[in-house]
Amino acid sequence: MSGLRALLFDPLRTLFFPPHCAGCGHAIPDGEVLCATCQSGIEKIRPPRCEVCSQPYPGDLPVFTCPNCHGDPFHFENAIAVVRSRGIVREMIHRLKYNKELWLGRILADWMHEGLSDSRLRHWTPEALVPVPLHPRRLREREFNQAEILCRELSRLSGIPVKSALARRRYTTTQTLLDRRGRRQNLRDAFIPVKNGDVTNMNLLLVDDVLTTGSTLDACAATLLESGAASVRALTAARG
Ligand SMILES: [Zn+2]
Ligand SMILES: [Zn+2]
Repeated sequence: MSGLRALLFDPLRTLFFPPHCAGCGHAIPDGEVLCATCQSGIEKIRPPRCEVCSQPYPGDLPVFTCPNCHGDPFHFENAIAVVRSRGIVREMIHRLKYNKELWLGRILADWMHEGLSDSRLRHWTPEALVPVPLHPRRLREREFNQAEILCRELSRLSGIPVKSALARRRYTTTQTLLDRRGRRQNLRDAFIPVKNGDVTNMNLLLVDDVLTTGSTLDACAATLLESGAASVRALTAARG
């Protein structure tokens, strides 16, 4: 059994959290996940925030759509995140992706589970969780797709099934130097529906680790809508 498989299927690893803070490693009482210090460093996203992309907004407007979402709408109706990708949260996502600490997916999925109670999802029921796919080359390098790990943990908590409806076919160049239009152009046609992945008339919740610009989730949502999905929303473990 490879190291990764052992990590994934070790029952002790998946049934219990280690008795140390998931953030800093300090000893914590049984049943706790984070120490008080790490807990206090987590930045929760609370209104007022953009109704579409969850960007927090200083002020007291009750309902607000940020200029980004206003001018050039996304294909998803909104993207929910409960915490900011800062400090300890950012480190945990990094450790999950690059250190293969897959057990952290459980903690991140707890925040996503909290996100399912967001008021913006009140009159909408997702029928499946769709992970944002990795390109096969990156999947080979990393050995797993963090969005799939998060989907699986969130499915366990919520009972919503996972539907891997998308594949990534182009190895896109890095997005960081591109503007919004450039990013969209770069990602156009990067995602395709998988065979036997029928999403006709389904309400779908796209899942990824972090929302930064929203371009990746937007491209995925566009493909799902072209494939006949009724509606697409997004949920990420954190927001940049
Ligand atoms: Zn800690
Ligand atoms: Zn916005």
